[in-house]
Amino acid sequence: MKISAIKGFADILPGEIETWQFVEEKARAVFALYNFSEVRIPIVEKTELFSRSLGETTDIVEKEMYTFADQDGKGALLTLRPEGTAGVVRAYVEAELYQTEPVRKLFYLGPMFRRERPQKGRLRQFYQIGAEALGRGDPFVDAEVLLLLRDFFSLVGLDGVILELNSLGCVQCRPRYRKDLLAFLKEREDKLCPNCRRRMERNPLRVLDCKEEACREATRGAPSILDYLCQDCRDHFETVQQLLRDSGVDYKLNPRMVRGLDYYCRTTFEWTSDRLGSQNAVAAGGRYDGLVEDLGGPPTPGIGFAMGVERLVLLLGAKESRQAPRPDLYVACVGSAARSWVIPAVHKLRQKGISVEMDGEERSLKSQMRRADKLKAQFVLIMGDEEIKTGKGILRHMDTKEQLEVSLRGLEEALLARKVSH
Ligand code: ATP
Ligand code: MG
Repeated sequence: MKISAIKGFADILPGEIETWQFVEEKARAVFALYNFSEVRIPIVEKTELFSRSLGETTDIVEKEMYTFADQDGKGALLTLRPEGTAGVVRAYVEAELYQTEPVRKLFYLGPMFRRERPQKGRLRQFYQIGAEALGRGDPFVDAEVLLLLRDFFSLVGLDGVILELNSLGCVQCRPRYRKDLLAFLKEREDKLCPNCRRRMERNPLRVLDCKEEACREATRGAPSILDYLCQDCRDHFETVQQLLRDSGVDYKLNPRMVRGLDYYCRTTFEWTSDRLGSQNAVAAGGRYDGLVEDLGGPPTPGIGFAMGVERLVLLLGAKESRQAPRPDLYVACVGSAARSWVIPAVHKLRQKGISVEMDGEERSLKSQMRRADKLKAQFVLIMGDEEIKTGKGILRHMDTKEQLEVSLRGLEEALLARKVSH
């Protein structure tokens, strides 16, 4: 019986996985440069963690979460995490990480789950690489987080990504904006999609985030949040921008970018690429100064982002240089004596750090050589009864075609001397 994977849930196979590993390696490198530590948090959390932190009227909480009742008799509702920030903040609060060191720079990588319509660049299980800087409310850390992303994109060789920047203000200044925006929307209520009409009162900002053409059209002349910022938010935002300019990072202000989630305030951002079609955001994030307290911790500001790995990999494409390393040696065996020799001999070489592939079936020498070629092995050793008897074999360099006789006992030295690549 053939069973297929669920729609929106993808396998990542050899040929593509190398790009994923490349991306993860560069992410780890850049996080180390900026002094972020890795955290691993559970994939399943209590549903209330997400409904509470992301907000009840968000797309994620309204319709996209994979939620189920635990079978433990108590029927607690559990959810496959749709994003990472809530879990990281929960962990920070639960472990009281702030007791020993209130400023924590944390990163994570792993799968997230949202029941969205699967399409190019949008899956139901997708991977994010994300980071949270907790405990600092100053604009310098906002700039650092943005510079970290800029450096990461350079490190993976991704060009053509654009930084869009906005400020959502704070509890002081946003209510006034909210009120004016709501009044503006009410005048155009009949032009909005049913979804926006329904949640407009509870969350008018979200209308600006709606992807429906009608809503975009109707809100074209909407008031800009940037005209409503209080002095503190204005100063904060101005400093972030100044630091970006001083560091040579281009950005574009986008006052319509409100981000989907309730916890954001002040600086919000998205890095987009024009090569991704409509799912064009590669990374996104922002500041969330109330979230730690909301989840039971002490008042603690925070800022973070998440990057979509599938979209990054799509942009980077497959590259020969990122393919799996070729084996150092391929051992072709003919005859039973060679076959008994090969396993312990290969085992010893592998213990010395030499990567070896070999053939266990009794295939012809020709087909074994074809396989060595296909694997792009650096060297091939052909072993037959004769070689076992004399204790000598021929080592063939597959690129230069150079052949040299080696003693089987000195095989390891011969290979290491020729600098097999590890
Ligand atoms: P979008 O507007 O593209 O739906 P979002 O605002 O919902 O993005 P976030 O929740 O901020 O996205 O997640 C950060 C990043 O994770 C996105 O910029 C994107 O690269 C990636 N991402 C989000 N949802 C998906 C998905 N369903 N499939 C693949 N990648 C995703
Ligand atoms: Mg989304």
